[in-house]
Amino acid sequence: MNKPAICGGTPVRETKIYYGHQYIDDADIQAVVDVLKSDHLTCGPKIGELEEKLCEITGAKYAVVCSNGTAALHIACMAAGVEAGDEVITTPITFAASANCALYMGATPVFADINDRTYNIDPASVVSHVTEKTKAVVAVDFTGQSIEEDELLSICRERNLVLIEDGAHVLGTKYKGKPNGSIADMTTLSFHPVKTVTSGEGGAVLTNSEEYYKKLLLYRAHGITRDTEQMEHKPEGPWYYEQIELGYNYRMTDIQAALLISQLNKLPAFSKRRKEIVAKYDEAFSHLPQIVIQEEIPESDTTRHLYILRLNPKELSIDRKEFFEALQAENIYCNVHYIPTYFFPYYERLGYRKGICPKAEKLYEEMISIPLYYGMTDRDVEDVIHAVEKIATYFATSK
Ligand SMILES: *Cc1c(COP(=O)(O)O)cnc(C)c1O
Repeated sequence: MNKPAICGGTPVRETKIYYGHQYIDDADIQAVVDVLKSDHLTCGPKIGELEEKLCEITGAKYAVVCSNGTAALHIACMAAGVEAGDEVITTPITFAASANCALYMGATPVFADINDRTYNIDPASVVSHVTEKTKAVVAVDFTGQSIEEDELLSICRERNLVLIEDGAHVLGTKYKGKPNGSIADMTTLSFHPVKTVTSGEGGAVLTNSEEYYKKLLLYRAHGITRDTEQMEHKPEGPWYYEQIELGYNYRMTDIQAALLISQLNKLPAFSKRRKEIVAKYDEAFSHLPQIVIQEEIPESDTTRHLYILRLNPKELSIDRKEFFEALQAENIYCNVHYIPTYFFPYYERLGYRKGICPKAEKLYEEMISIPLYYGMTDRDVEDVIHAVEKIATYFATSK
């Protein structure tokens, strides 16, 4: 049998490969250079151009781009009217920002459990956590698979809750043929380099509501308006503007916007390649009883941001940590998405304890994010598959 590198065998490859990597081409570089040679590095024409493009791609009526996905979640919570004392329901299998945005508002994050086949927030668990204090639901399209929009929307409509979709992974995905971004009350995006398209740092909030849109614009820029209709006093002259709310400087630069516009031109190609790689992984791993494949709801036509290798502990003599280290020895550098948010010391200090979301915690014990990005060659994909096959079969409990 082919010996894993961790047991002294030869690694499947000599060079390291990581779980994610951005793809930047000459058009992206030129787009940035053009802005640097222009008059506007920020507050210029690229912002509006980008917002229009995001609306075009997602079908949302309004887009507000901002400095990062966390800022997007923050201003979305502000626009939703989340206040101190409110509760916001979210999933623990996400980046910390999905819950931190509730804390920014003085509200309490409440963790609902996941569906252990799709790994997304379970609508039934959301219902069981609704109280008089619940104001909003922050639902994450984990790995890029759409949340159960119909179920979550009807839960939110019946109870007068705001559905905020943390779509940091979702760009390129459709739910029942409609692009995600035009469905929930607000959808936030992130353009961090590991996401499907990047602006270095960047984010956006998408909405069909004019009311939310106007608030988002204010909160992005200090609460300042130049719109005379919003002003409380008569303009004192052409220079006049007013601060009417407390907002932040969460603006994106034109440099970032130009990069993102150029990246978005490649979204169909990015999406196609990610789907191809996911299909290859699913096909290869479906033959391995040691691996559990993430299920997809039929409504979601998914552009996957992450590929979750879920281990079946019954079929393996090693645990997740050992599997992870064995992959590293093969020069496959993976990651784990995510440590359940309430495991962190900060959340412990707030009184959260392990045990509140058993399905999420079990998933965390068994998951590894393996490489998935546009620039992977077929050879890279094969190396990952070979490494997983080699380790899974070598450490199989039933041989
Ligand atoms: C990346 C990410 C964020 C935060 O986005 P930033 O742009 O890094 O601030 C929020 N939620 C999820 C699910 C993410 O993956």
